[in-house]
Amino acid sequence: MPGGGARLLQGGPIATEIRQAVSEDVVAYVERVGRRPVLAVVICGRDAPSMVYLGQILRSCEKVGIEGRLVEVDGEASESSVVEAIQALNGDPEVNGIIVQMPLPPTIRLRAVVEAIDPSRDIDGIHPMNAGLLRLGYDGFLPATAHAAVEILRRSAIEIEGRRAVVIGRSAVVGMPAAFLLVRENATVTVCHSRTRDLARHVKDAEIVVVAAGHPGLVTGSMVRRGVVVVDVGINVVDGAIVGDVDFDSVRPLASAITPVPGGIGPLTNALLLAHLMRAAKGQEAPSETTRDTPIASPIVSRDRVAASRGVR
Ligand code: NAP
Repeated sequence: MPGGGARLLQGGPIATEIRQAVSEDVVAYVERVGRRPVLAVVICGRDAPSMVYLGQILRSCEKVGIEGRLVEVDGEASESSVVEAIQALNGDPEVNGIIVQMPLPPTIRLRAVVEAIDPSRDIDGIHPMNAGLLRLGYDGFLPATAHAAVEILRRSAIEIEGRRAVVIGRSAVVGMPAAFLLVRENATVTVCHSRTRDLARHVKDAEIVVVAAGHPGLVTGSMVRRGVVVVDVGINVVDGAIVGDVDFDSVRPLASAITPVPGGIGPLTNALLLAHLMRAAKGQEAPSETTRDTPIASPIVSRDRVAASRGVR
């Protein structure tokens, strides 16, 4: 789309649709179970950078009728107190989902914390079991941000199958799960990272670029091919403003579609987390539904099952 710029892939309208479906699920759940579904949010110290994000999640819970419970562990607390707090939530039959503030204080090992979460309550897909299920193509909980990066393409009817995709970033919570999801959607995927030589060459070849590096202005117009689809997952604060990892002004004129920051992946991540919570709640009512052995076997089955596994209608 020369001159005018790409189609804007806004997360807001899709998030609204998902929240609407979640609200209906919540009403039905309350009728069946007699209480509201519960999301527990574990934080270690209120000065954590993720407090703003967690506050948004708690407000979103309220809007759809989910009870958000803030579980505060002293910022100076030991690793074992955080693990014990999570184990107490695992044992509480009212708690359907658990998320933990990231990053953790440096004295607390990430591995100890993620392994403490009951995989059936791990609605942000950080437990090794859920990471493994994703890798193997079985149903599990997906990391919400990676899920959002691919869901925005699917819901915007952007073709993924057979296309060349580059993911910039290889973190366990965003880059790698986004890459696995794109492979599941039958893209041909290259994962780039800080040691990649000649990033621009890889990006130039890509028909879809997902950027999750935490590096403002990393992808510029001179690096992309005309018609590229760009998903910007980055959230950076520059001169008091929130910007992504993509130099929006130089990339938009060349792209066919692009997510804005803010307003792209962020709202969708938040809504998908609520959808994951309802999937967990329903699975805990009838565990056989979520523990069934369902490999992703073929493209058509894959799409249906992936949609089902996301708890999204
Ligand atoms: P992370 O753990 O810091 O990982 C960043 C990744 O980007 C790493 O794999 C790193 O490579 C790579 N990278 C960094 N600089 C690079 C460069 N110059 N060239 C190529 N690759 C580079 O971050 P994350 O947790 O994945 O988050 C990524 C971004 O997404 C951040 O901006 C974060 O704020 C944002 N985010 C957004 C949402 C949302 O809802 N929209 C949610 C979570 C995170 P190495 O592996 O070699 O170090």
